[in-house]
Amino acid sequence: MIKKVLVANRGEIALRVMRSCKEMGIQTVAVYSEADRTSKHVSYADEAICIGQALSQDSYLNIEKIIAAAKDFEVDAIHPGYGFLSENADFARRCEEESIIFIGPSAASIEAMGDKISARRHMIRAKVPVVPGSSEDLKPKDLFRVCRKMGFPVIIKATAGGGGRGMRLVYEEKDLQEAYEAAKSEARTSFGNDSVYIEKYIESPHHIEIQFLGDKHGNVVHLFDRECSVQRRHQKLVEESPSPFINEKTRAAMGAIAVKAAKSIHYVGAGTIEFLVDDKMNFYFLEMNTRLQVEHPVTEEVLGVDLVKEQIHIADGKKLRFRQQDLRQRGHAIECRICAEDAEQNFTPSPGIIRHIQTPEGIGVRVDSFIYDGYEVPVYYDSMLSKLIVWATNRDYALERMRRVLYEYKITGVKTNIDYLRRIMDTRDFVKGNYTTHFIDDNSKKLQANKDDSQEIEDMAIIAAYIDHIVNGNDHSASVPADNRPISRWRAFGKQKGVLRI
Ligand code: ADP
Repeated sequence: MIKKVLVANRGEIALRVMRSCKEMGIQTVAVYSEADRTSKHVSYADEAICIGQALSQDSYLNIEKIIAAAKDFEVDAIHPGYGFLSENADFARRCEEESIIFIGPSAASIEAMGDKISARRHMIRAKVPVVPGSSEDLKPKDLFRVCRKMGFPVIIKATAGGGGRGMRLVYEEKDLQEAYEAAKSEARTSFGNDSVYIEKYIESPHHIEIQFLGDKHGNVVHLFDRECSVQRRHQKLVEESPSPFINEKTRAAMGAIAVKAAKSIHYVGAGTIEFLVDDKMNFYFLEMNTRLQVEHPVTEEVLGVDLVKEQIHIADGKKLRFRQQDLRQRGHAIECRICAEDAEQNFTPSPGIIRHIQTPEGIGVRVDSFIYDGYEVPVYYDSMLSKLIVWATNRDYALERMRRVLYEYKITGVKTNIDYLRRIMDTRDFVKGNYTTHFIDDNSKKLQANKDDSQEIEDMAIIAAYIDHIVNGNDHSASVPADNRPISRWRAFGKQKGVLRI
C-alpha cells in the first residue's frame, strides 16, 4: 500500500501530483534544487529536501541523490512527473533495485519505447501502422540510396530524439548531406547519441494522440484523443480534446490500435501514443510517451478521471477501476501553455520576478500552476509558468470560455505569451477547428501583435506603474517612455483614459 511518495520533479507538475496524493491521504516528499528554495512545491509537500545546485544535472537529474532522499525519508514510491527522469530506464531500474515503487512503466517498457528505432520495430511487429521510413541507424554510405528510395521530402530524426531536437526536414536531394550532418551533430550534443533515421515527411499532418492506462493484470483501456497540432518549432502550445478533426470511426480505430500497441509490450501505467494523421485520416504511429504528458488535463476534464490517482492505483498493483465501455468523452476541453517568454521578440525566455498575478476564476476553469506574487522565475528550467484549462459542454463554448479566462489572466513582472494565445483563439482556422501542425507558420501574420494591441498594453503598463508608484511608492520611471515620465503626465494620462480621478 503506497502511503508516502517522493515527487522527483518541480514546478506545476510536482504540485499537481502532490494534490492528488493529498486527496488520497498519501504523504509527500519534495526534492528541490538551490534555485527552487522558494518554490511552491517545496512548501506544499509534507517534507522536503534540497538535493543540489540549480543545474538539472546536479539536482533533478541526479539519480543517486534522489534515491538517497527516497531512502532517508522511507518513501514507498517515486513519481517522476514529466521531463527530467520520467523516461529514464536507469532510474526506473534503480528504483526497482531499491524496492521503491516507480510510478510508471517498467524499465524494459521505457527502454523499448525510448529509442525511436526500437519503438518503430516493436510497433511494426505488433502490426501498428508506423510513418513510412527506415528502422535502422542511417549510415553515411546508405544516406542517398535510402532517401531516394523513400522519395522526398523526408525528415531526418534523432533516434534518441525528444523536444523537437535533432530533426531536419529535407525537400531536395541537394540539401541532404548538410541536413544529415546537422541532425547528427545536434543529436550528439543534445542526447549524447548521434544515431539518426529517416521518415517520409507527411505533408500538413495533424498531431493526434491517444491516452491509455494499463494495469499489472493485463487490462488496458484508452482514454480517447487529444489534438496537439498547434505547435511552435515542434513544441505543443495549445491542446484540446476531443480532436475537432477526426470522425468517430477514426477515433475508435485509433483507440483500438493504441490498446493493441500497449498490450504488445505489456505496458503498465499511464502512457500516450502519438500519431500523425494525414488529410485522408490515415494515421501513423509517431512515438509512445511512457509518462504523464503536459497536456493530460484535457483528458481528465473530458473523461472525469484523475490520471495521477489512476497511476498510483495501478502502481499499487490494483486492477483498473473501469472497463472500456465505462469511458465516454463528455463536452470539450482546451489547454493553453502559459510561458514566461516574449512572443514579440521571437519567444525569448523572460525570467525575472513576478510582481502580480490575477488568476482567472469562475465556471469551467482550471489553472495548474506554481507561481505566486513575488516569485522569481529561475533561468535554469523550462519557461512554462502554468497551464490554463477550460471545460465546457461543446467546443464553441469552450472556446468562448478560453477567450474569457485569457482575458482575466494577468501576470506582471515577466513577459508572457498570454496575448499571443488570445490571438490564436481568434484565428479563423482555430475557431473552425480546421488546422494542422502548420497552423502557426500559416497564420504567422495574423498572430503578430497589431499596433493597437501594443498601444493598449503600453497604456495599461503606464497606468499600472502610476498606481504602483502612488500606492506602494515604487519608482518605475525608467520603464515608462521618456515623454510620459513626469508624474503629472501619468496623472493626466490616467485621467484622460478615465481610470484615475485623483
Ligand atoms: P520529438 O520526440 O522530438 O517531440 P516527434 O517525433 O514526436 O519528435 O515529432 C514532433 C513533431 O514534429 C510532430 O508532432 C510533427 O509536428 C513533426 N513531425 C515529426 N515527424 C514527422 C513526419 N514524419 N512528417 C511530418 N511531421 C513530422
